[in-house]
Amino acid sequence: MERVEELADQILSQFAGLGYEINRDEVIKRLKLLLYEFKVPESEAVRTVRNWIIKEYGIPREKVVEAPLVKIKDITKPGQWVSLKAKVVQIWDSTSPSVSQVGLIGDETGIIKFVIWAKSGKGEVEEGKCYLFKNVVTDSFQGRMQINVGRTSEIVEIDEDIQLPPREIEVIGALVAIQQNSGLIQRCEQCHRVMTKGICPIHGKVKGYDDLRVKGVLDDGENVYEIILNEGNIKDLTGIDLEKAKQIASERLDRNAVLSELKRILLGRYFKVAGVRGGRYLLVRRVEKILGVKADEVDKLLEVLA
Ligand SMILES: [Zn+2]
Repeated sequence: MERVEELADQILSQFAGLGYEINRDEVIKRLKLLLYEFKVPESEAVRTVRNWIIKEYGIPREKVVEAPLVKIKDITKPGQWVSLKAKVVQIWDSTSPSVSQVGLIGDETGIIKFVIWAKSGKGEVEEGKCYLFKNVVTDSFQGRMQINVGRTSEIVEIDEDIQLPPREIEVIGALVAIQQNSGLIQRCEQCHRVMTKGICPIHGKVKGYDDLRVKGVLDDGENVYEIILNEGNIKDLTGIDLEKAKQIASERLDRNAVLSELKRILLGRYFKVAGVRGGRYLLVRRVEKILGVKADEVDKLLEVLA
């Protein structure tokens, strides 16, 4: 059978499953036109024909449940309707009440940002777990691709261990900035989101627990990377663990004292960070301090030597 007929039958079977009988000749005609005349890539041609069918036959969009399964590296254009299997690698603080969750997901081909919109009413995902993200829409925000989980999307946990991109990079750079929401922070007991002044953005005034983290920017002279250091990383680099941080806070009667202390020790220093890159983010796997001096001190040394 010709490839075009195969594609046509795949499309037809999806709609047949929904109880719609679609004119096969029409579908083949359109596929041929797109593939051979306009030289459109196969996935794009299929998407276009599906959209035509949905419109032509007046099929409610939410009834059509099978967006094509893609890999993250294939997500290059906004407005595509796709499904993908991915592992949640990082969840960020959501700054907007219209966003339920935001963070990074990955498969063996790449890492991409995801946004679960609050109005989608979709369940929450957890770091380290794998999911099928069904019927999500690709989008481009500030020049970078992301996927949006909306009302017609579905998130299904899957029993598969999805590997992240095998290529780990190593970056040697200076930590040039540490964000204010770093140091001794409080997380919501229910959803683990970072709380501000005892308020969870979702659950309001609830009980929280303490955690230690640094959100910062690493600059290697060529690129800047956003990194997050967890308690383990911070302990390795500074000797300060959660207990020590709480002690600092209670001694100085100020939780911000921890952030000041971490800034004093870490800011401007050089680190070697090994991790996986996703856009401007570097997912830290290992981090070590490489020089005992700060960046501005190196500049001074170089001036003296010149
Ligand atoms: Zn919460």
